[in-house]
Amino acid sequence: MAIPSGARYRIGGVEFAVVNDGTYMYDAGAIFGVVPRVMWERVAPPLDDRYRIPLGLNCLLLRSRGKTILIETGVGGKPGDRDAATPAEQGTLLTSLAALGVTPEEIDVVVNTHLHADHCGWNTSADGELLTPTFPNATYVINSAEWQDATHPNERTRATYLARNLDPIADRLTLADGELAITDEVIFAPAPGHTEGHSTVVVRSGQEWGVYLGDMAQHRAQLERTPWVSGLDVLPLVSMETKKRLMDECIEAGALVMFCHGPYPGVGRMTRTPEGFRKWEDVAPLAHEHAEGDDHAHSHSHPHGQEHA
Ligand SMILES: [Zn+2]
Ligand SMILES: [Zn+2]
Repeated sequence: MAIPSGARYRIGGVEFAVVNDGTYMYDAGAIFGVVPRVMWERVAPPLDDRYRIPLGLNCLLLRSRGKTILIETGVGGKPGDRDAATPAEQGTLLTSLAALGVTPEEIDVVVNTHLHADHCGWNTSADGELLTPTFPNATYVINSAEWQDATHPNERTRATYLARNLDPIADRLTLADGELAITDEVIFAPAPGHTEGHSTVVVRSGQEWGVYLGDMAQHRAQLERTPWVSGLDVLPLVSMETKKRLMDECIEAGALVMFCHGPYPGVGRMTRTPEGFRKWEDVAPLAHEHAEGDDHAHSHSHPHGQEHA
């Protein structure tokens, strides 16, 4: 069964597609950190036999001002990248791009919100022993502090900052110190907390904007409840403040929120309930403009995201 991919959205004049690198299983306790299990198990999906929950690997393909931009590159497809999942379930980004008619050569800019292994795996590809950039014509946009940390891992970060995702692109970098305009519509912006150099991608067009969250959360309950800081965050209190500020800005503006680790396609809006609580609402993709009267394979109606019901 083909995994879902290619869901389209629009922010002002910028159209983008959510391309899918599959599903990533991760330890639920590590995700929810200090939050007691009796609280998170009410909202989390069922654990597998290794106490893990499924995370989406939603990447974005965006065109702006003549540039083809890929935000995030998933777990990748090199030996070791797939973490024991089958190739049909994980590491599907290139297949997803091909389904949209996009070749790796066409990507002008790759953006990594940070360099944990589940966000930059397809930065590089393996041909036997030889590692090469997967996107041969792309510049790779990365926060400079993140690049420093990733290329000098410590005993805690060594398992996720992998030289095989980084070394082959070392001469293709655009390192950002602070905010960087990739185009006037696509802004790479610091959002520290998950890591010191962690960044988001803000898309602005006309009166509308939206934000790709990177790893600001792994489950939407963490977006709704700001004290629910992920156990994976290296600066938890900074992370909480960053998230609180951004979520409130998104609620105020009705901004579109693009969520890497949410269930596919992971696009929604943050709203506020009458009681004053923050609440995630799924947003359905645009309808197929070239539909040929045969849309039964595409279930686009998830008005309130009941996948955990
Ligand atoms: Zn991360
Ligand atoms: Zn992640």
